[in-house]
Amino acid sequence: MDKQARPKILIVDDKPENLYAMEKLFQQMDVEVIQSSSGSEALNLALEHDFCVAIVDIQMPEMDGYELVELLRSNEDTASLPVIFVSAIYSDEYHHRKAYETGAVDFMSKPFVPEILLSKIRVFVDLYQQRQALQAANLVLSKRALQLETSSQVSQQVSSILNLDELLTSVVKLIQAKFRYYFVSVWLLNEQQDTVALRASSGHDGSQLVEMALSLDSPRSIIVLVCRTGQYYVADDVSADPVYLAVQELPETHSELALPLQVGPKLLGALDIQSERPAVFSPEDIAVLQMLASQIAIAMQNAQLYHNLARFNEELESLVQQRTEELDRAYHMLARVDKTKSDFIAVAAHELRTPLTLIQGYASLLQTMFQNTPNAGALVEGILTGETRLLEIVNSMLDITRIDAQALKVHRDSTRLSMIVDSVRREFEAALLDRQLTLNVTGIDTLPVIQADMDLLGKLLGHLIGNAIKYTPDGGAISVRGRVISRGSPDPSGDCVEILVSDTGIGIDPDHHDMIFEKFYQTGSVRLHSSGRTKFKGGGPGLGLAIARGIVQAHGGRIWVESPGHDEQTCPGSCFHVLLPISAPQSLSQ
Ligand code: ADP
Repeated sequence: MDKQARPKILIVDDKPENLYAMEKLFQQMDVEVIQSSSGSEALNLALEHDFCVAIVDIQMPEMDGYELVELLRSNEDTASLPVIFVSAIYSDEYHHRKAYETGAVDFMSKPFVPEILLSKIRVFVDLYQQRQALQAANLVLSKRALQLETSSQVSQQVSSILNLDELLTSVVKLIQAKFRYYFVSVWLLNEQQDTVALRASSGHDGSQLVEMALSLDSPRSIIVLVCRTGQYYVADDVSADPVYLAVQELPETHSELALPLQVGPKLLGALDIQSERPAVFSPEDIAVLQMLASQIAIAMQNAQLYHNLARFNEELESLVQQRTEELDRAYHMLARVDKTKSDFIAVAAHELRTPLTLIQGYASLLQTMFQNTPNAGALVEGILTGETRLLEIVNSMLDITRIDAQALKVHRDSTRLSMIVDSVRREFEAALLDRQLTLNVTGIDTLPVIQADMDLLGKLLGHLIGNAIKYTPDGGAISVRGRVISRGSPDPSGDCVEILVSDTGIGIDPDHHDMIFEKFYQTGSVRLHSSGRTKFKGGGPGLGLAIARGIVQAHGGRIWVESPGHDEQTCPGSCFHVLLPISAPQSLSQ
């Protein structure tokens, strides 16, 4: 629609002098007057032009004014054209009425007062102009609605697609199809920011361009210019634009708009739009497309971030897998080494037991033979003591072999813990005396009878009390306490007993509280060992607590230690807790 065109008026009269007079009259108005000397010519003109009013003479040869207006009314395109009849001869009431029935909006008889005709015409011109303005506003509104709808569609798409290529392809297709542009494309800058390459495109016929890249030094190309300046550029007529770079595949391009794709200060590339019509990009269009370009740029950055994150995840995953495999290998190697060690202990213990038994036999024989010989008895006694200690160690080695192989046999019987504690106390009587240590036993007598292996519990308490003696300086105190721990259920068979072996010794660093239960684990340096079963800090093979744990676990119980720390000056002491179920079998592991 041509907004600048003046409103048009059609005058129909077979007399040239009348036409001339009318034309003269309308010169003072800003209108275009088109004359017609016959009804048939007027019909054609009415189809061709958009008139705001027609002034029709009634008396004309061939087709009179009434016939002309009837024909105008019968055609959809001309039906609403307002008509003013003018007549000199039939100015009576009858003709007035006939004129209105035919569809005229007004009637004037000749001679008419020019001012009256002019004022009537002005009303129609005003009406016409208002209608035109309304139509124009309507057009703009529907265009804006389409633009907004497209923007929201693009926003939806861009926020849901995280794959960059997929995102750009869908965006160019959408913009091209919705706005009916000739060609839409997205160009991205490379990392060095010296080249811009085509990444996605969509043409009016569904065509796409492939593989195009432009150096940022190129003197021609609107896209390059936008990537250099970061400002949008519009060429209303590309043939007259010095920057425009013609592309063979796009011969119809008449105007081009390129917009920067930018997030903050970072320029990612350009959105390029081409049209086959000149000067199509209005400031409003550019504003909408700029908004779209910034949404696309943000979505591109999101896609890039997502891509980076996915890559980082992949790298992390492969690193974790690599480390897991390494750990797995190390674990298997350790397991092999552990097995070799266990095998060696088993073999060594078995091999040592036979000669030890022999030595014990012969030493006992010698003891009988030399019992009356001065000094010799004491010597043989020494051999026997050493041999007994050796046998204990070998037995410990065998115990740990069984525990490792999960072959420790538990012969459960009704067991009174006080009997076991008494027998262990007797075993260490001499050592306690020698080291001036006191051993207090409380609450053990009143403990209920439990289902347990007496021999194994003897070994367990032997190791715990033996350690308490070993790691407590002379003159210290050891205590063995017992209590029942109720599990709160009405059936007391679910309860358990707790035995606490505590001392006033050197204590254990909390960092070692778990590790001391591993076999061969010793907190001090092995080289500082002084040997001996009950000597202060006398080293052992590092098997006692591993065996103790094996025995407790085989009974379905738990063992742990509490100690504020290791200090040989202040001697904070340690307390070993043993929890055993009263009736077997059940696990107390929490
Ligand atoms: P070992 O033969 O060395 O005594 P154990 O398995 O019996 O082996 O004990 C492991 C380590 O735990 C010991 O070397 C010692 O460092 C520590 N330990 C055990 N019992 C006590 C205790 N009552 N007081 C302080 N340290 C202890």
